[in-house]
Amino acid sequence: QDTGREGITELATQCPFCSVQCKMTVMVECGSSAGRPAIRVEGTMNAASEGRLCVKGMNAHQHANSRERLQYPLAKRDGEFIRITWEEAFATIQERLTTIQQIHGRDAVGLYGGGSLSNESAYLLGKFARVALRTRYIDYNGRFCMSAAASAGMKTFGIDRGLTNRLAEIQDAECLILAGTNIAECQPTLMPYFTRAKDNGAFIIVIDPRETGTSALADVHLKVKPGTDAALVNGMLKIVMDEGLVDQSFIRKRTKGFEELKHHLDGLDLDAVSVLCGVDRASIRRAALAYGRASTGMIFTARGVEQHVDGHMTVRNFLNLLLVTGKIGRPSCGYGAVTGQGNGQGGREHGQKADQLPGYRLIENEQDREYVASVWGINPAELPGKGVSAYEMMELMHAGDIRGLFVMGSNPIVSNPNAGLVEEGLERLELLVVADIFLSETAKLADIVLPVTSYLENTGTMTNLEGRVLLREAARAAPAESKHDWQMLCELAAGLGQGERFAFRSAEQIFEELRIASRGGIADYYGITYDRLRREEGVYWPCPSLEHEGTKRLFEERFAHPDGLAVFAPVDNRRPEEETDVDYPLILTNGRVLEHYLTGVQTRRSPSLAARAIENVMEIHPRTARKYRIEDGALVRIDSRRGTVVVRTRVTSKIREDTVFVPMHWGGIQNVNRLTNPALDPFCRMPDFKVSAVRLEPITGE
Ligand code: SF4
Repeated sequence: QDTGREGITELATQCPFCSVQCKMTVMVECGSSAGRPAIRVEGTMNAASEGRLCVKGMNAHQHANSRERLQYPLAKRDGEFIRITWEEAFATIQERLTTIQQIHGRDAVGLYGGGSLSNESAYLLGKFARVALRTRYIDYNGRFCMSAAASAGMKTFGIDRGLTNRLAEIQDAECLILAGTNIAECQPTLMPYFTRAKDNGAFIIVIDPRETGTSALADVHLKVKPGTDAALVNGMLKIVMDEGLVDQSFIRKRTKGFEELKHHLDGLDLDAVSVLCGVDRASIRRAALAYGRASTGMIFTARGVEQHVDGHMTVRNFLNLLLVTGKIGRPSCGYGAVTGQGNGQGGREHGQKADQLPGYRLIENEQDREYVASVWGINPAELPGKGVSAYEMMELMHAGDIRGLFVMGSNPIVSNPNAGLVEEGLERLELLVVADIFLSETAKLADIVLPVTSYLENTGTMTNLEGRVLLREAARAAPAESKHDWQMLCELAAGLGQGERFAFRSAEQIFEELRIASRGGIADYYGITYDRLRREEGVYWPCPSLEHEGTKRLFEERFAHPDGLAVFAPVDNRRPEEETDVDYPLILTNGRVLEHYLTGVQTRRSPSLAARAIENVMEIHPRTARKYRIEDGALVRIDSRRGTVVVRTRVTSKIREDTVFVPMHWGGIQNVNRLTNPALDPFCRMPDFKVSAVRLEPITGE
């Protein structure tokens, strides 16, 4: 927009990366000394990030302006990509998808979405799968992000919203538990909420096998052995109960299942818990007493405790702890699943998940099917059934059951566990179509690549980790021949004979249909409109009417189950699914670094971010490094039962001696997911990313 200042254009937008969704202004100043526009970025005051930006947000425009941006559709011929027109791309995709489905059935085609897509794109991708292609197979990378916390929230509370209350309430909590979340690197603009709480006297408990910028705030850091978090919480629960720190009145009036939980923990051996978790008993006790005695407190979990085969039950145990002490539904009391992806919350609410329809409706529920079918103008019998999770789709590709795949805003070859199988599965497809802004590792394997718009060019709503719906408006026109995700889907659907049901001319029109499709559902957006989002600083769902102000704090009176009660669940102490042995003697865990987002497709193309973290690095404890003759800065080969990677080494005493840590942002030989364990959580189908048994071998003669 015109700023009134000659030669300066201001683009008002929102960061494309993590779940805080910080608002920002990108200032483009023409005529700099280098002869190219100079660009400055500033945070814009807003209620979530309070005007702050982290280094990722400050440099997000670099990837949007990259010369590597895809300009036009590509098709692979004899192993090389050639430029084609959109008409050719659509005609080829329509013809080949139709042929695959005619020969092998509708379910021979799958769709794979992403948690960075806007609500409108996620909604339309789900509708495209169910209405235009009528396949049951659709899922997305959010399966790896929030599925454990989401399913645990649904079972315990009857609703799944990232934070049960506002970020602003953190600073007044007396005790905070941060479990498996490294906010200092993953959502840095949230850190001031926690430092303010600390300044106000809060007791902070961090549960993480590594010392991080987040654990630096901790009064107690429980440096837990990966995969044993549920047992650790059992220990804390036992201490809280034995010390009489339970809120009997809350338990009696607002919960059910407490007696079973109490009985389950009666004989718990705290020494055995301490040994299993690798945490001394005194520290567990200190943490339990601090949380139990505090009159207010909040618990935050993230992938560190969720990406396990018992991730669902681990989160349920944290919710047990919260419920026994009655710390929910009142100021500065609640739970937060700290989402990694920009639209991790909204992306899972509107139908790109295998088992869900818009508004968090369930695809296997007859009433939900009837309602959504009526909005879409189809017979409910035409709606396909429930599909399978993201990694299970990879297995179906590998087995030859899924023969055509459409990927939108995701890079499954880097983000799935057991990447070797994923790569083979993608190579076996008869048709792989990838819509992206760059030639990602997955796009390189594609038959057709479609260029789409970036965050600077694409209008849509995003729902941040608080459940706050925010509008991000396009700041500039689409470059070259790129199209918006939704435009592309509408045109493809029209070619498949579904033009009437996909006759959208703007993202806002899609949102208008989404509002109706979500009406009365768990994630009810009916009262939210673009006009309202332009006037207000976002609106919290559920928001069932235009007059409703949105729900800032959940569960003040009742939980969302029909009887209004929250549900306790006894949780077993589990050992990790894959244990170390003489062949694979160390635990590998993975995670993020400050500079990169997800599989790094965007951030690795931002020169400033890439320069700060140019390659993948394994963290290892000095004593472990000595034992395996590995030197700081040297290359190391890591093997698991599934594959091999080669990365550089960083020797640091910040990690446990029995564990090594490798980030998740790189592909190829640096792709940590070549090593990771694809065992799935039975409740939510989350893979066990966080515990794999590995061995190390120094690489000599560099
Ligand atoms: Fe904000 Fe997250 Fe973007 Fe950083 S990455 S600027 S914390 S939205």
